[in-house]
Amino acid sequence: MLIQLASITNKPLKRVLEHIVYLLLIFVLIPVFVYFELCIVLPAVEKDNSKHVINLCIAFFLLLNIVGNMLYGMLTDSSIQGKMLDSQQTSDWTLCAVCECLRPPRAWHCNICNICILKRDHHCTFLTSCVGYYNYRYFILLTLHIFIAMVYAFYYNLKFLATFISWNHGLAIIRFIFPLANFVVDASYESLYIFIVVINFIVALFTGFLSYYHFSNVFKGQTTPERKHNESKYNKGWRRNLIEVFGVRWHLTWILPFIQSPLPGNGIQWHDEDKYK
Ligand SMILES: [Zn+2]
Ligand SMILES: [Zn+2]
Repeated sequence: MLIQLASITNKPLKRVLEHIVYLLLIFVLIPVFVYFELCIVLPAVEKDNSKHVINLCIAFFLLLNIVGNMLYGMLTDSSIQGKMLDSQQTSDWTLCAVCECLRPPRAWHCNICNICILKRDHHCTFLTSCVGYYNYRYFILLTLHIFIAMVYAFYYNLKFLATFISWNHGLAIIRFIFPLANFVVDASYESLYIFIVVINFIVALFTGFLSYYHFSNVFKGQTTPERKHNESKYNKGWRRNLIEVFGVRWHLTWILPFIQSPLPGNGIQWHDEDKYK
């Protein structure tokens, strides 16, 4: 028996406004940071022209991956809406009282998206959508590329700060601990640069932790809720687990988000051992 889900009310206007706010935030913040790194920091610390070109190429690669994975993550739908749910094997399916349907294993309801999500991991504020079966790849590679970009930028930022910050018997540390207060007291370009570098450091720490946490989940074949409940029955070995998230061309997906890498399953059936090649 096949069940076609009826259309589910999805608070569309609120979701669209959320997307617009986050897109504006990201498309203002990213250009400001890129301008700072490429037009202020790099010319100040890298005088060698050939190295300058290499740095521009690396920056373009990272930027393309960050923006691309973010857009793919936002626009790839992992919800059960419109999916044909085969309910013959329903012994481990659960009932969603909100969607009023049976849902497959690993699918859970999201109160923000207001629908059940296949292999739901969590609702991502920055993607303004749930991370689930079809967009987990983009979410993880987004965090990984932001982390690499932040570490890379931080290396040059430290060299840049060294050109104008005076240690002043340790007093300079206070400017880094309270960057916003420092900027209010001394509204100079130096204070602004310190503020940007502190944000750079915090984002590097945050995305580094996220990348580590989610890659360890992927290798164990777990979602975040399954990890919390110590559930590991979907662990099929690291290689199969990688394919389950990054698709059959898993080894190429880090290069560009546009590379097609079909997933082996459909996020609905979880006990077909022979679907891997
Ligand atoms: Zn639901
Ligand atoms: Zn959600």
